Amino acid sequence: MSEFSNENISFWSDSVELPSFTALDKDIETEVLVVGGGISGLMNAYQLTMRGHEVTIIEGNSILSGTTANTTARIMAQQGLLYGQISKQKDEDSARLYYDSQMEAIDEIENIVNKHDIDCDFKRVDGVIYAVYEDSVKDLKKEAEVYKTLGIDGNLFRNEMKLPFETSAELVMKNQAEFHPLKFLQTILEVLKEKVLQFMNTRAVNP
Ligand SMILES: Cc1cc2nc3c(=O)[nH]c(=O)nc-3n(C[C@H](O)[C@H](O)[C@H](O)COP(=O)(O)OP(=O)(O)OC[C@H]3O[C@@H](n4cnc5c(N)ncnc54)[C@H](O)[C@@H]3O)c2cc1C
Repeated sequence: MSEFSNENISFWSDSVELPSFTALDKDIETEVLVVGGGISGLMNAYQLTMRGHEVTIIEGNSILSGTTANTTARIMAQQGLLYGQISKQKDEDSARLYYDSQMEAIDEIENIVNKHDIDCDFKRVDGVIYAVYEDSVKDLKKEAEVYKTLGIDGNLFRNEMKLPFETSAELVMKNQAEFHPLKFLQTILEVLKEKVLQFMNTRAVNP
């Protein structure tokens, strides 16, 4: 059963038919046990399976019934004003490393989409963080400076983007992405079907 009310079913959930699985009712042996059938669990299972590991997934409710079914579906290295924060709390190398890891993750999703020819509306788009009030523009300016220092592909605009509401400034990060997460994961489940044991209504507990 989904942890979200049926009245608030997301567009993603409403537009795919997902498989169901039985509950685990006996002891089994497995090389890797993945706990949780959301995007994190399924992508870990996918990557391990592709590298030849024997994987079992257990999901406490039904597969893809958690947060993954209810997100904004952005695949973004731009996660708030993060790069200034990491540069300050750690250092520039750490911030650059984090950015590279996020961009590689976007490329990896695109590679998987192409490899399995997944029809999931994957699209490269620009990420935008905007300031509505003039007071917040200085924060975007600071982050734009950090983008320059780190070599992040992006720009600060002053109310030039014609968003469908009033803004004072917009900080763009180029070459981000969006997709239909459940269409993407529906195919991942199909790929994993023959290779991975999957159980739902099976919760990992502390003994
Ligand atoms: C409103 C909102 C919007 C978001 N938008 C974005 C976005 O645009 N882009 C983005 O990258 N991220 C976004 N996120 C973050 C997003 O939630 C994660 O990126 C991603 O969906 C998390 O996936 P997950 O597999 O870790 O979690 P989930 O999809 O919640 O999956 C975890 C699963 O584990 C199961 N589980 C938990 N405990 C156990 C147990 N003990 N035994 C068995 N099963 C268990 C749960 O039942 C659940 O199905 C958003 C989050 C929210 C709340």
